[in-house]
Amino acid sequence: MALVVTNRITRRKEPFTPLVPGQVRMYVCGPTVYDNPHLGHAKTYVQFDVIVRYLRYAGYRVRYVQNITDVGHLLDSGEDRILKKAGALSLEPMEVVETYTRSYFEAMDALGVARPDISPRASGHVPEQIAMTQELIERGHAYVTDSGDVYFDVTSFSEYGKLSGRVLDDLQSERDIAGSGKRHPGDFALWRHAEPEHLMQWNSPWGYGFPGWHIECSAMAKKYLGETFDIHGGGLENQFPHNECEIAQSEALHEAPFANYWLLTGSLTINGEKMSKSLGNFVTVRDALREYRPEALRAFILSSHYTSQVDYSEAALKSAQAGWERLMGGVQLARYALRSAPDGSAGLDFLPTIEAYRTRFVEAMDDDFNAPQALAALHEFTREVNTLLNSGQAVGKDVLNAIESLYADLGGGVLGIVPEAGESAGVDADLQDALIHLLIELRKEARAAKEYARSDMIRNRLAEIGVALEDRPDGTIYKIQ
Ligand SMILES: [Zn+2]
Repeated sequence: MALVVTNRITRRKEPFTPLVPGQVRMYVCGPTVYDNPHLGHAKTYVQFDVIVRYLRYAGYRVRYVQNITDVGHLLDSGEDRILKKAGALSLEPMEVVETYTRSYFEAMDALGVARPDISPRASGHVPEQIAMTQELIERGHAYVTDSGDVYFDVTSFSEYGKLSGRVLDDLQSERDIAGSGKRHPGDFALWRHAEPEHLMQWNSPWGYGFPGWHIECSAMAKKYLGETFDIHGGGLENQFPHNECEIAQSEALHEAPFANYWLLTGSLTINGEKMSKSLGNFVTVRDALREYRPEALRAFILSSHYTSQVDYSEAALKSAQAGWERLMGGVQLARYALRSAPDGSAGLDFLPTIEAYRTRFVEAMDDDFNAPQALAALHEFTREVNTLLNSGQAVGKDVLNAIESLYADLGGGVLGIVPEAGESAGVDADLQDALIHLLIELRKEARAAKEYARSDMIRNRLAEIGVALEDRPDGTIYKIQ
């Protein structure tokens, strides 16, 4: 089966056909860097990370561009988010930008989110934004007001609203634009004039000012991906006005589609409300990582489809962590068995099972990146692995290597929830894992010989040092407390 994706702009599931065979050019709207990232950001960027990882697994060469918004993203009050923060902390705006850009990448690195290939900053691309604004004026799609603002004329682009389904008549009323210089209430700023005391301003053909938020994505996507590219991603909450305005600017100018596929992620909610800075109901990534493994956070995010909302609760995260530990129980058991397994092909009749699960995983991901189903396939596979390795049947290196490859390619490479051997718990993890499994084996032998005092002693002494054993129908797993 070939890859199909939900294209928000056509509102259909469609076969994915990139412009250049074998290559994917992809742009995702990045963060505005004025505070620490929270789990809402984690949801968006983990989900696009898995999409990129899967495209690469499927053999595509991907160029992934994700911008850093460090100028022009205004609050409803008209204040610049970054300038407001800089004022509150008595910092230079660029100190705020540096602080929170680092914080963003540190959080994403900790979550195992692969860095984009290009992370362009809006403030580093002002000439490109001015040039695009200038061309829009020349082509009759934008106009300059008496005060030196430049607005996009929404009536000049007949398809305005095609992504979000909004129509111009729904937009603000005429009275909202009194004194703004706007010709139509839906017109949006490409450039804003700056008062002399405004920090972060640049010279332009229209005097000193700064770019609007939307134009940065159009200008930077064009620079690094071309006038038309394959995938534009972002959070669904930004489809209007932000993404709609990007489309209007780019398509009005180039008279060609901006992005062929629009993939938008549902938001992360907490008690049914969107998690956001402005609502004050957020949990930062850093705080969440004090309580939970990064892989468990990813598993929680991936337990719902990228287009869906996911509701955060401690219970949901605990359950994701427990599920991830069960998965790792299978991974560790296979890695342990591999150390002492005989060479050769004993247990070869398990190979078709491995291939069947790989196929199921790929089919799930080909169906609009259905990570929850792919994750479910990995869990079922783990049950089969546990049953096989606890059955007493001889299993040779060929089969164990194939099991390890599946975990490494799909659980590690695509979903990013299976650490490489040796990475699972820091230094000497392999050795620790092998020792615990040795004790589990000794305990099993003691129980088989009805030496219960000895088997209890092993269990209790392990518990004292923080290693809890859990006997399950398909074998014993351990958890480090
Ligand atoms: Zn954007």
